[in-house]
Amino acid sequence: MLTRRNFLAAGVTATTALGGPFLAPRDSLAQQAAPNLGPNRLVTLGTRGGPAIRTGFTPSPSANLIVFDNVAYVIDTGYGVSFKLVESKFPLPQLRYIFITHHHSDHNAEFGLLTYNAWAMGLKTQIDAYGPNGMKRLAQGFWDAYKFDIDTRIADEGRPDLRRLVSVHEYSEGEVMKTDKVRVTALRNVHPPITESFALKFEFPGKTIVFSGDTAYHPPLAQFAKGADILVHEAMLGPAIEFIVRANPNAATILKHLQASHTLVADVGRIATDAGVKTLVLSHFVPADAPNVTEQQWIDGVRETWKGDLVLAKDLMQIKL
Ligand SMILES: [Zn+2]
Ligand SMILES: [Zn+2]
Repeated sequence: MLTRRNFLAAGVTATTALGGPFLAPRDSLAQQAAPNLGPNRLVTLGTRGGPAIRTGFTPSPSANLIVFDNVAYVIDTGYGVSFKLVESKFPLPQLRYIFITHHHSDHNAEFGLLTYNAWAMGLKTQIDAYGPNGMKRLAQGFWDAYKFDIDTRIADEGRPDLRRLVSVHEYSEGEVMKTDKVRVTALRNVHPPITESFALKFEFPGKTIVFSGDTAYHPPLAQFAKGADILVHEAMLGPAIEFIVRANPNAATILKHLQASHTLVADVGRIATDAGVKTLVLSHFVPADAPNVTEQQWIDGVRETWKGDLVLAKDLMQIKL
């Protein structure tokens, strides 16, 4: 069984074995068309559910990175995603694809700034960004807000036009995109009051990774994730959400939202078991940092219904693919 602690130790070993930072020196980067982004991996950059920010940025709101066959995919761009990518030694200008699962701020707040930060660090190549209805408005709002700065830097620093480098696509249920390296599909999940909320499946040659997105217990997700190598599923700990509720003045409303739109950890185990996935990764923890909540409580909760490989995600954890 992999707990959060011993998986982290394994992750550290893997990182060391891979030779540390994946970044080539600046000069050679400029000369190479495609810098080596390192081994195929999933990095859980931000693992908290909800938009709150704590000291040390840990845990920070939802964000994940997949590097596969030297192409980078970011899934969700919660606040802190740029810092977390940099911390994970990922060269921001090599960003290629961004996917947003739904338009809650703990998943999209840093979308515009992530592309901006990549640009500020030398982005020259195209980024394709995919999100549900509202994605184009999100991008346009950012371009409007930062028009002065972007225009100034184009004229003043000779940068390419960021707005032309970023192509924004809106998706719904079904196929989101397909290249010769990956097929991405979406399944509408249950996250009221948001209806445009999706689970995402990434099918690479020989490796399938599914993200639940934010969802209440949704049995069709088991079919969607059938046989996946990794299921990254959101998780809520029943007894502990009382803590969140007590800390909020609008307790009743918050409690109702949480119960209707997130999945209790035992139900997460049911999905993973029904899907027969190889590894279950718990992430988007609700609550993420309540005092007196231990890792063992999460493990005990999911072990009622899931006997397979288990990972409790932590910010910046690297999982080899
Ligand atoms: Zn969320
Ligand atoms: Zn949400």
